[in-house]
Amino acid sequence: IKGGYKSSCTFFDEQLLLQIHEEQDIVRKMDAAMTNGEFIVYLQPKMDLRVNSFHGAEALVRWNDPQKGLISPAVFIPIFERNRFIVKLDLMVFKSVCIMLSKWIQEGIQPLPISVNISLITLYHNDFLLHLTNIINRYQVPARLIELELTESIVFQNLEFVRDILLELKRKGFSIAIDDFGTGYSSLNVLQYFPADVIKLDRAFLMSKSNDETGKIVIASMVKLARDLNMKVVAEGVETEAQIDFLKQIDCEIAQGYYFAKPMPVAEYESLIKST
Ligand code: C2E
Ligand code: CA
Ligand code: CA
Ligand code: CA
Repeated sequence: IKGGYKSSCTFFDEQLLLQIHEEQDIVRKMDAAMTNGEFIVYLQPKMDLRVNSFHGAEALVRWNDPQKGLISPAVFIPIFERNRFIVKLDLMVFKSVCIMLSKWIQEGIQPLPISVNISLITLYHNDFLLHLTNIINRYQVPARLIELELTESIVFQNLEFVRDILLELKRKGFSIAIDDFGTGYSSLNVLQYFPADVIKLDRAFLMSKSNDETGKIVIASMVKLARDLNMKVVAEGVETEAQIDFLKQIDCEIAQGYYFAKPMPVAEYESLIKST
């Protein structure tokens, strides 16, 4: 027992050291990466299942590190949430999306809405509203073309504070989506209390529930409830035809996932929407 304990302990130390090292590396390089334009925005299309056409896209950030290549946000977002660099990153993504939309408008392309992920830390930042307003004014982008995705866990802290910010954002014309719906605690009072326009059903939720009858009933009721509350439902992480059939059957309007397309570079998305 003693030996086993010791070796698992060493293993743990090594893992931890590796992780600490990687985290330090990321933190050391983040500012330069921002200056050098290494954070790039990918877009993943959302499909309107009723009419079988594009409904817009979600902006997802990647880090194009010259040595490591493309790094997934799952690696660096939690670190940036801890050291608050996420505020800068979220605003940079927001700004890139505005530049993109304004370019499309100038080219006479009727742009579809784009959604941007906003971390809890960013939402709580004092100048958040001011920054957003300055950016959309500067690029002359109508706020209705931008949807802000907030994770469900956000809404469980400082309820009133968050509600006030969301109301202010809506007043400015942004639409609000509750991301990762179904993963947190729950959920139904969130729908009632927060002025959301959209809920995004989490991939894990869809996977675990769409396989059995009881689960299907749960999802179908949630979709109905959201609709009765005048919210749209986006199903995330849709990978199979069976899932699409089920979503159509319960009148879930919008879907996003590898079944249709993976997140792609902006140029690729552009040629996709231009060709349709
Ligand atoms: P999320 O907002 O829930 O985004 C959906 C994630 O699921 C994306 O991962 C997307 O690539 C992936 N995905 C989409 N369809 C499928 C599918 O059919 N199957 C599977 N297995 N996965 C699918 P990604 O791009 O790695 O982003 C991970 C998370 O990082 C995002 O989860 C979001 O929470 C965060 N994130 C990404 N960009 C930003 C950002 O600019 N700001 C903030 N604050 N967070 C971001
Ligand atoms: Ca999201
Ligand atoms: Ca999500
Ligand atoms: Ca997620």
